[in-house]
Amino acid sequence: MKSYKFTEEIPVLGSYDVIVAGGGVAGVAAAVSAARMGKSVLLIEKTITLGGLATIGLINYFVPMCNGRGTKIIKGMAQELFDLSIKYGFDTVPSDWKDGDPPADTKQRYVTRFSIPIFIAALTELLKNEGVDILFDTVVTKPVMEDNTCVGVIVENKTGREMYCCKMIVDVTGDSDILYRAGVPTIQGCNFQTFLVNGVTIKTCEEVIKTGDFSKLTRGYDGGNADLYGGNHPEGHRLWKGTNARDVTDYVVESHINLLNNIRNDDRNSRELIQIPTMPQFRTTRCIDGDYVFTEDDVYKHFDDSIGAICDFDRRNYLYEIPFGTLVKTGFPNMITAGRSASGRGYGWDLLRVIPPAIITGQAAGVAVSMAIDSGSAIYDTDIKKLQKTLEEQDVMIHFDDSLIVPGEAERVDIGHI
Ligand SMILES: Cc1cc2nc3c(=O)[nH]c(=O)nc-3n(C[C@H](O)[C@H](O)[C@H](O)COP(=O)(O)OP(=O)(O)OC[C@H]3O[C@@H](n4cnc5c(N)ncnc54)[C@H](O)[C@@H]3O)c2cc1C
Repeated sequence: MKSYKFTEEIPVLGSYDVIVAGGGVAGVAAAVSAARMGKSVLLIEKTITLGGLATIGLINYFVPMCNGRGTKIIKGMAQELFDLSIKYGFDTVPSDWKDGDPPADTKQRYVTRFSIPIFIAALTELLKNEGVDILFDTVVTKPVMEDNTCVGVIVENKTGREMYCCKMIVDVTGDSDILYRAGVPTIQGCNFQTFLVNGVTIKTCEEVIKTGDFSKLTRGYDGGNADLYGGNHPEGHRLWKGTNARDVTDYVVESHINLLNNIRNDDRNSRELIQIPTMPQFRTTRCIDGDYVFTEDDVYKHFDDSIGAICDFDRRNYLYEIPFGTLVKTGFPNMITAGRSASGRGYGWDLLRVIPPAIITGQAAGVAVSMAIDSGSAIYDTDIKKLQKTLEEQDVMIHFDDSLIVPGEAERVDIGHI
């Protein structure tokens, strides 16, 4: 490959305690939680909207935050953002959960859909109210490394090329882009052909008028509707990596053409498409090969370094704890991840990356970096007991109660994931 070498003086425009690279739900949680610990925080987002896949990826659905028996497992900032997502717009919270925790054992799971544009605006307001500095329309391109320590990041935006310095960095790009470029070991994932689009029809509009419920406004269209387990993925079709520009571009081009093929013979006045994803709907692109790699086999395990209990989104009863080791790699003292790029394999990775756990890991990352700054210690040497105590005070369930374990009755579905 030909190459071109150039050197350049780059203006240093600011210095922060914490830089959060990426403004998805994990990034928002990390930024807010560090700001609440009194740290100066800069959140850098390459688009002009917060929420990432949960908003511009059109994934406006909090998967279950309870065990499927009426007990809430995932709380803390996941509960806060769940509430915020429906504060000014529609919700689809099931009836048993409408008025808080259900009085009796219920099979209804604690979930909701939410209005995408309203949640986007509410997230911006949240960051402003919490004193987080935001840089929109700005791509973090390169970590500036001194040995294994990241002293800042190079960014690109309308102004040009700039540098921001930091004491700690949280890579919540969803793809571990910054950690990868810093030399942190990572695991490459792959993705099926999924490209889900929201549209309206006369019928859905009539349904809204009939019920007064805007959650019924849209119906799905697609340019590929593979599910998590590969169902509906075109036979023999390649899998997408999502970690290089050519791959992402080919996916987008193919998805748009598929979408057109799926609708071009409709009566053109019979429907309108109103929301198209503006980031690729890739589930698992690249995560860190962390100090701990989380898998499905970790079901019902307690971890001494748990930073939060989570539940299985597909299966009632199945409970897990997220080890802090999924967020860090020993040897890289001021770099941490959260959300979609926490360290997991197979279905274990899926369990970590969905919206509520992504928020929980973001919250933990924000607290951990703040503590590391205060103590001057490496992030992987975080005082776990202190971290857990702080998270508990923020209403995170650190360890699930063993009385919630019902293995005999656990509903097992066949997890045939790549
Ligand atoms: C098809 C599909 C269906 C899903 N279904 C569900 C579901 O029903 N329920 C559920 O809970 N979860 C679901 N998920 C998972 C969930 O949506 C995501 O895993 C979760 O939202 C990830 O959040 P995140 O903050 O970790 O990452 P992301 O949402 O990926 O956010 C990363 C952010 O970083 C920004 N960014 C990236 N690179 C840079 C850079 N270099 N500089 C600056 N900014 C950058 C991006 O623009 C983005 O805003 C689904 C995912 C997919 C793909």
